[in-house]
Amino acid sequence: MYRRNNTEEQPPVETKVWECSSEDCKGWIRDNFTSSDKPSCPLCGSEMKEGTRMLQAINNPGNHQ
Ligand SMILES: [Zn+2]
Repeated sequence: MYRRNNTEEQPPVETKVWECSSEDCKGWIRDNFTSSDKPSCPLCGSEMKEGTRMLQAINNPGNHQ
């Protein structure tokens, strides 16, 4: 799922994410990209823990311009 580079001046916002519990793994996903209460890491399959990251806001993910 790739979108065009359309990051015009959107300030990062604190966003709820899931982060891989493995120290060696950089896997993480946005909370709103999963419907699971306990998602597993897409990279290594480990448990994930809740966290936050400063991320660009995503507006209308389904809106292709
Ligand atoms: Zn992982």
